[in-house]
Amino acid sequence: MLIDTHCHIHDKALFKLPPEDALSHMHANGVGKCIVIGTYPADSAEACDFAQKYPEVWWTYGYHPNEYDGNSNKLTSDLKSASAGILKNTKLVAIGEIGLDYHFDGYNRDWQRHLLERMLQLAQDYKLPVSFHVRDAYDDFWPIFDNFHIATSVLHSFSDSEENLRQGMKRGLYFGVNGLATFANIPHPPLERIVFETDAPFLTPKPFRGTINKPGYVKNIADWACNYYAVDSGEVAKITTRNAEKLFNI
Ligand SMILES: [Zn+2]
Repeated sequence: MLIDTHCHIHDKALFKLPPEDALSHMHANGVGKCIVIGTYPADSAEACDFAQKYPEVWWTYGYHPNEYDGNSNKLTSDLKSASAGILKNTKLVAIGEIGLDYHFDGYNRDWQRHLLERMLQLAQDYKLPVSFHVRDAYDDFWPIFDNFHIATSVLHSFSDSEENLRQGMKRGLYFGVNGLATFANIPHPPLERIVFETDAPFLTPKPFRGTINKPGYVKNIADWACNYYAVDSGEVAKITTRNAEKLFNI
């Protein structure tokens, strides 16, 4: 059995397929569980609702760095109402996605760092792991990360340098491996530190590029891993599923 640790199939604006179809395709491909990822407070509430409907789905409370408008009073009140409400939900498995994204101009970096610190405090208070989104920003990310005591966490969609792979290894982090591995030239973490994800509807793996990504395509990422690491499919599933179950306690 395989697991999709990062997808957005609860988000109707992003994911245009009927969720029931995606879930039955998921099971047909040997993917038994998935985690839907919140990207701002209202979206996280939708992820929570979605997870209540399906036994094989868990959810995260997140705030993507490109979604924050710098209003820290609003952030305070959002986090307060989440603490009084949905953060008590038993299917909540992580904080995220949170992080820093310097890839595109036009997103205030001070605001991003402020948001990351606030969300890391939340993860620390709740003793929850984090699904990190870090893009072109590791030099600023590590010093902030090192200021907190966070449960073992994952760098979602890792595609940065060998050096930052080493930095993540050193801190005991896991690496989210998705369709990028099947077509992009990126560093590959050891299998013992990998969890699979799709980031559906984005980053569709080979041979389905150009179509909507869905959790069942973890199967194709696992096929890639069998080939790359020269291990059989049972072993790939055993290691990555054990990693995901341990990391997210699912
Ligand atoms: Zn994502």
